[in-house]
Amino acid sequence: MIIGIIGSGAMGAGIAQVVATAGHTVRLLDQNAAALQRAGQSIRTNLDKLAEKGKITSEAVDSIFAKLQLTAELHAFTDCELVIEAIVEDLSVKQQLFREVELVVSPDCILATNTSSLSIASIAAACQQPERFIGIHFFNPAPIMQLVEVIPAVQTRPGLAEEIRDLVQSWSKLPVLTKDTPGFIVNRVARPFYGEAIRILEEGIADMATIDWALTELGGFRMGPFTLMDFIGHDVNYRVTESVFTAFFYDPRFKPSFTQKRLFEAGYYGRKSGRGFYSYA
Ligand code: NAD
Repeated sequence: MIIGIIGSGAMGAGIAQVVATAGHTVRLLDQNAAALQRAGQSIRTNLDKLAEKGKITSEAVDSIFAKLQLTAELHAFTDCELVIEAIVEDLSVKQQLFREVELVVSPDCILATNTSSLSIASIAAACQQPERFIGIHFFNPAPIMQLVEVIPAVQTRPGLAEEIRDLVQSWSKLPVLTKDTPGFIVNRVARPFYGEAIRILEEGIADMATIDWALTELGGFRMGPFTLMDFIGHDVNYRVTESVFTAFFYDPRFKPSFTQKRLFEAGYYGRKSGRGFYSYA
């Protein structure tokens, strides 16, 4: 299968690695040439590390990497059978992108979004053929995280969700079908997880390190909420919180925090920018 991926940031690069490793031919596109180069390098580094650990052979590294084509041109997508979008979490930008994608891909090409929080129906609505549209939501880092949410929109043709579920399973992932509701399963459950952690901090009940420690050491979480928010990036995480809050008709359970909003506004996105809740300088 030939799979096009748009957006070569944290998610797009990870998804490209997953599907190339599964044997598909991959075209990875980004409007930012530097981001595209970084993605190529990070995929190569990840594969090399797997080879060093003996998890794959060095021949496999070469053959997986050879399946990956980096491109700045949508025209490279004409023969794609599936396109997965992982660009900025902004409805109008995603809608505009899919309008352009539909002009170049074949009528049979399946279109998918990796959105964390936007309604699949609202992105599909921008398409000429919304029945071929679906959500395929990976978690970060995509090569490591097993879970993938598969989200049909109301417009999605019957049977497509099951086809995508089986395809995702063939990538050695664990797909779960979910309805098109704000945050789907994981990001909905995660909002109060982050929100309450920030409120505990704001109310002076405990400091960040203590909250993170309690949840990892005692709660069994792999990362505490502050470490995890810094890892995801406040640009992404704050936008998702705002979007879920709005989509649930301003239900106070999902209310965003000013503490995180200020980090977002300051460009303190977390690990990727060197500073978030914690400093990574
Ligand atoms: P990111 O900022 O790391 O990467 C986004 C990339 O998209 C950038 O390289 C940017 O140059 C590119 N881009 C933006 N607009 C574009 C356009 N119009 N055409 C081509 N390229 C464009 O973001 P990310 O963390 O990879 O998130 C991408 C998507 O995946 C978002 O919808 C996000 O909500 C979702 N998501 C993120 C996570 C996460 O933990 N980071 C997890 C699951 C889903």
